[in-house]
Amino acid sequence: MYFKKIQVLKVESVNDEYFVLRIRDKELTQNIKPGQFFQIKDPCAVFPLLPRPFSVYEVEGDKLSFLIKKVGESTKHLSLLKEGHIIQLLGPLGNGFPLVSNKKVLIASGGIGYAPMTYLEQKLKEAGNEVWFYHGGRSSNDVFCEDVQNCTEDGSCGHVGLVTEHIEKCFDSIYIDVAYACGPEAMLKVLVGICAERNIPVYVSLERVMACGVGACYGCVIKIKENDSIVYKKVCKDGPVFDGAKVIWDE
Ligand SMILES: Cc1cc2nc3c(=O)[nH]c(=O)nc-3n(C[C@H](O)[C@H](O)[C@H](O)COP(=O)(O)OP(=O)(O)OC[C@H]3O[C@@H](n4cnc5c(N)ncnc54)[C@H](O)[C@@H]3O)c2cc1C
Repeated sequence: MYFKKIQVLKVESVNDEYFVLRIRDKELTQNIKPGQFFQIKDPCAVFPLLPRPFSVYEVEGDKLSFLIKKVGESTKHLSLLKEGHIIQLLGPLGNGFPLVSNKKVLIASGGIGYAPMTYLEQKLKEAGNEVWFYHGGRSSNDVFCEDVQNCTEDGSCGHVGLVTEHIEKCFDSIYIDVAYACGPEAMLKVLVGICAERNIPVYVSLERVMACGVGACYGCVIKIKENDSIVYKKVCKDGPVFDGAKVIWDE
């Protein structure tokens, strides 16, 4: 894990809601597991005080990028940064997705949950897996790539409807060994149910609001089934990836 101040290489707008933040660093790009994240902050920004977690989106040589949705102060501020501006990064953090090899694999993402999945897809393909990638969003604004099975709620791009509905149909015709997902918890909960009915193991990455990112503040705990009891786990340190079958979802 590194704590570094690094120059922004580029900030590229995807559309009015999303942008890609690019940096370059030899050390940071070594040994990053898909699903890991960095705590990022502009050290010059007084508010918000705390850094924010962002998943690793792409790793290419010494280049590292983050796909970010503008939702509040930090993300809007980061979207306005220019080449050469200094940002502070802590990471890579978290456990990342466990990788399988030579299997039939499903990747499911919803909204900004797409961010960690392209790097995961790359690593799964390198390990000889056959990958089916489904992504869902509210509209075409939440769609990032034409090479995956896109689903939009308003039908403005790809299949019409929820991504989980299309995955369920896909399960009727394709045998899947293992599934990986990241997105809104309502989507993850439905997907875990669909996978449970078919005995498909599913790993979910939870994008909980968190503060410290290193397991010190307990701001991101979730309940996990362990043997016959319920234990608390920290999304930042024990996760963000968990066995979906063990997660106890909030009501
Ligand atoms: C492990 C992890 C990885 C993440 N990866 C990415 C990523 O790759 N790209 C990306 O755009 N975002 C990602 N997020 C979410 C991102 O961290 C938040 O959107 C960010 O902290 C918002 O900061 P802000 O100051 O702009 O907004 P804030 O002012 O902090 O929040 C604005 C609004 O968004 C809500 N909010 C904040 N964080 C979250 C969250 N995690 N889930 C749901 N609602 C939230 C707040 O409750 C508030 O209503 C990730 C989160 C986690 C925990």
